[in-house]
Amino acid sequence: MDVRLPIGVGVTAPVSPLRLDFDSAALVANWRWFAAASGRAVCGAAIKADGYGLGARAVRDRLAAAGCRDFFVATWDEAVALGPLADGLSLSVLHGLRDEDVPRALAGPARPVLNSAQMVARWKASGARRACDVMIDTGMNRLGLTPEEARSGLLDGLDIDTLLSHLACADEPGHPMNEQQLFTFRSVKAAVPARRYSLANSAGVCLGQRYAFGLTRPGLGLYGGVPAPGADGQLHPVVRPHAQAIQIRIVPQGATVGYGATFTAAAATRVAILNLGYADGYLRAFGEGRGRALIDGLACPVLGRVSMDLVAIDITEAPAVAEGDWIEIDYDLSSASAATGLSQYELLTSLGRRYQRCWI
Ligand SMILES: *Cc1c(COP(=O)(O)O)cnc(C)c1O
Repeated sequence: MDVRLPIGVGVTAPVSPLRLDFDSAALVANWRWFAAASGRAVCGAAIKADGYGLGARAVRDRLAAAGCRDFFVATWDEAVALGPLADGLSLSVLHGLRDEDVPRALAGPARPVLNSAQMVARWKASGARRACDVMIDTGMNRLGLTPEEARSGLLDGLDIDTLLSHLACADEPGHPMNEQQLFTFRSVKAAVPARRYSLANSAGVCLGQRYAFGLTRPGLGLYGGVPAPGADGQLHPVVRPHAQAIQIRIVPQGATVGYGATFTAAAATRVAILNLGYADGYLRAFGEGRGRALIDGLACPVLGRVSMDLVAIDITEAPAVAEGDWIEIDYDLSSASAATGLSQYELLTSLGRRYQRCWI
């Protein structure tokens, strides 16, 4: 009988040809920067979308060890995936409370962020006898009660831990919407009692302490993104992708590289083929000179199109690179965003499942 074991059984640890290194010290330093910039306000952390792609549990554990107490996820699936909540930690579920969410909301300590009159009614009807959070829409027209609804008596009888709103244009410090939203939020604050008030995301913290209230909620900046001009040069990169060179070749003068034959070698070119492609979030926006690898500080540009699982880079100036070498991909979020037109958020959250994820 031919009994085959699954590939990998009996072999030592699986070794992926691509890897994400996450810098724990940089993550913590970034959170401390936001905590200091938040002044007297407590600084929390947005860890939705699996910690912006880094792994929500790993981020939560590292930031909790550094003193962060307040965490934000989008959905109850994300809340459950975090596992039990340690004493002293607080978890808010930003998308609130659908009918389907009620059993899970009642089963654990996470708080729903109630966004609509229906959600308020659903929470009251659920029989829950503990605190919730409430989102006010102050102009973004995304989630939240209108200021009029908030003042209408609808919230009477609720035990509100945190009253939140969210800024639409905080990454543009001069945008008039920031002051308008601040004004509206203050007027709701005066009318609705809550233990804490919270308005600022990463970019909101950069607008100054008038925006900090009692609790801030940075996400992007914790992970090394530059949320607003005020944070330029203040935050450390956290995510470093690496891919293995699985073949080295010389492309003769006049020959082409990759799908569509979009790159033609003007002279004989030494090329490394890396095990990384758009299925790993290294999207085609990085093709032909917009993406680059970093080899001993030297920038080696992408040649031709990015394939699903492979990308070619020019290593003519890095002759020591050999088959099997690990190559770092330049993933500076701010400059990669400028080069590709992808947002820093998309760059973080699109990194795929095939990487070995290593906290260092
Ligand atoms: C995502 C999110 C945040 C964090 O935003 P960043 O721009 O990543 O800092 C804060 N608050 C709410 C309501 C969010 O949805």
